[in-house]
Amino acid sequence: MMKYTTLLSGSAGNSVYIEGGRSKVLVDVGCSLKYLQKELAKISVTPGEIDAILLTHEHNDHISGAAALAKKYAIPIYASPLTWRALPFAALLPPLLQREFTYDLQIGDLTIDFFKTYHDAAQPVGMVVRHEKQSVGVMTDTGQVTDTMLAALEGVCGLVLEANHSLSLLSSGPYPPFLKRRIAGQLGHLSNQQAADALSNIVGDQTQAVILAHLSRTNNSEQVMFAELNQELDRLRACIGCQMTVAGQERSHPLIELR
Ligand SMILES: [Zn+2]
Ligand SMILES: [Zn+2]
Repeated sequence: MMKYTTLLSGSAGNSVYIEGGRSKVLVDVGCSLKYLQKELAKISVTPGEIDAILLTHEHNDHISGAAALAKKYAIPIYASPLTWRALPFAALLPPLLQREFTYDLQIGDLTIDFFKTYHDAAQPVGMVVRHEKQSVGVMTDTGQVTDTMLAALEGVCGLVLEANHSLSLLSSGPYPPFLKRRIAGQLGHLSNQQAADALSNIVGDQTQAVILAHLSRTNNSEQVMFAELNQELDRLRACIGCQMTVAGQERSHPLIELR
């Protein structure tokens, strides 16, 4: 059986916990060891039980605690080749803990397929983690969603999907023009509308849970996001048993157990 949750999500830090069978992984570790320990304890997991750390890209909100966690508990870190070159801690980690992936990956009872995302990072990825017939997709930090990405996410049972900003809040908000262009650009972050479009392609009978993630504190809110996702919500409600919730910025989401 697979379980998953977000431990925190947003520009202050990101980490997704996924388990299947006897294997447990973290996708990104953008938090302190202390925070991680505290949040994992809520789901009765200790950091030493984590089998692998998988990094989506090298931005600090996704990696700030990765090296400390890896070193302390001898947990290998997996990242794409160009991400490794961009990681600030690569030289400080024992080579044994530095693993590169190119295509798919097997970690214990989990199979992981990666797909390219579009973000201002060296070689960013999203992924689908599978165990037996269940699967969890993670797609955050991307400025666009391509058919290839949608095909990769087809049929996932659980999803962590970015809904970073409301385009209207972003354009009328306080950010300087260059930052607005970066966020809304092809290598930026997904807007609520882009997230809704992605959901309309991904969500189906097989979908059990969607956690909307990486919400901007300045350019989005739970209320605005749900209003902008309205049409898609109606369809989701029609999906038997699919729940759609929002990841906490600095608290973990309740653990989701897939059926
Ligand atoms: Zn990023
Ligand atoms: Zn990020």
